[in-house]
Amino acid sequence: MKIWRVLVLTLALSLQVLAQQENARTAPKPDDRLKADVLLIVAHPDDETGVSGYLAQLMDQGKRVAAVYLTHGEAGHNNMGRERGPSLGASREMELRHALTYLGIENVWFLGGRDTPSQDVLQSLANWHHGQALEDVVRMVRITRPTVIVTWLPGFFIGENHGDHQAAGVVASEAFDLAGDPSAFPAQIAQPRHVNETLLEGLQPWQPQKLYFFSDASDDKQFRGKGPSYPVTGVSSKRHVVYWRLAMDGFRFHRTQYRSYIEKLDKMTDDQLAKLAGADQDGWAAPMQFIFGKSVVSESVTGDIFEGVQSAPAPYTPPAVAEPIEQTGLSLAIGGPWKFYDDFRRAHGLNQLPRAEVPEIGIAAGTMLQIPLILRNQTDRVADVVMEVTLPEGWSQKEKDRTYRLSAGDVFPFQVELNAPAKKSDNVAELTFIGTSAGQTIGTLKIRVRVGAGGLPQ
Ligand SMILES: [Zn+2]
Repeated sequence: MKIWRVLVLTLALSLQVLAQQENARTAPKPDDRLKADVLLIVAHPDDETGVSGYLAQLMDQGKRVAAVYLTHGEAGHNNMGRERGPSLGASREMELRHALTYLGIENVWFLGGRDTPSQDVLQSLANWHHGQALEDVVRMVRITRPTVIVTWLPGFFIGENHGDHQAAGVVASEAFDLAGDPSAFPAQIAQPRHVNETLLEGLQPWQPQKLYFFSDASDDKQFRGKGPSYPVTGVSSKRHVVYWRLAMDGFRFHRTQYRSYIEKLDKMTDDQLAKLAGADQDGWAAPMQFIFGKSVVSESVTGDIFEGVQSAPAPYTPPAVAEPIEQTGLSLAIGGPWKFYDDFRRAHGLNQLPRAEVPEIGIAAGTMLQIPLILRNQTDRVADVVMEVTLPEGWSQKEKDRTYRLSAGDVFPFQVELNAPAKKSDNVAELTFIGTSAGQTIGTLKIRVRVGAGGLPQ
């Protein structure tokens, strides 16, 4: 064969391969503008304040931070205008967008949950239509593909008095465990079928690598050593402002909530602000304390939030579910949100999370306190249980001690209603509930209660 014929043949073959390559279909890619290193999942505009001094540091490090708000924060007073309800929510959405833009965070989503003025996480989850909220948060995790999720601590503590905060932590933890599961919310994963597709979303499952919490609890000492802590007294390399000041100045947009406090800040000099920031009460300059939730890459509790993270996507890692606790005989247990958190921690591999050893709550002076209790009869005979409540001075019980009759196998949830003293106190009162049957004690429970001023209803 002549050499020119070989050359022509080779050229033709190469052109054929090239043409085939040009016709080759390529895989659809996710929108990289939406990718996050850290996804903040919270309940209301202003909830970022607890961590904004740390988020500002992430922005300096070139990390991508995105945020999801479960509600618009439409409950409460409006200190700036007449707008209330959904209209107040619209104002607060705008305040929040300004605040996060100030911190350099641009990817922010609001979901459809309603602000729930209650301390009870179960009411918040119901008000948000729990399943819908979870589906929406799982979608946001699959869209933003975060390495780390940061959210409110799911737990009930004196001072952590908003059920919505706790509910944001619950739904975020559930989404951490579900977003990587291809069988969870499969319409999000399904391949779109039409040009005008409105149902199937074409996402991919996504397993975040680490989960961290923060909390509003009054006793913040209990969280020391439970996760990394970041000082906010350093100076931003990009903004040349100390980090607590960036947090404080971002907070100044939340005027519908804190107008008078912010106007006080507006009138202060830099030196006065620094003095205020160092004071215990305002705490702007206090370190940001995180609580380690879980990780699929590194189990270091106090190590850096990014310690051990890998650049490759993590494989789907279902939670390590703890064995259920077997109930035997006649028993007395606390119900409501306290019981839920026991079940929740076991179901999501979060058994090591800090919790109040004795169940606790803060309520307003002079209000009613409902204590949900559960009696169980796992014997094969009918049993009468007498409930006896021991109260500190100033407390009263609406209905005095009662007898509860349980057939074999009965589960009997009920609540004891108590009137709190009219006078507030910094002391924490301890209430005791004892169940006895046929002269034998079947269970003793204690509840710690701080009776303070105002706050959300139980
Ligand atoms: Zn809030």
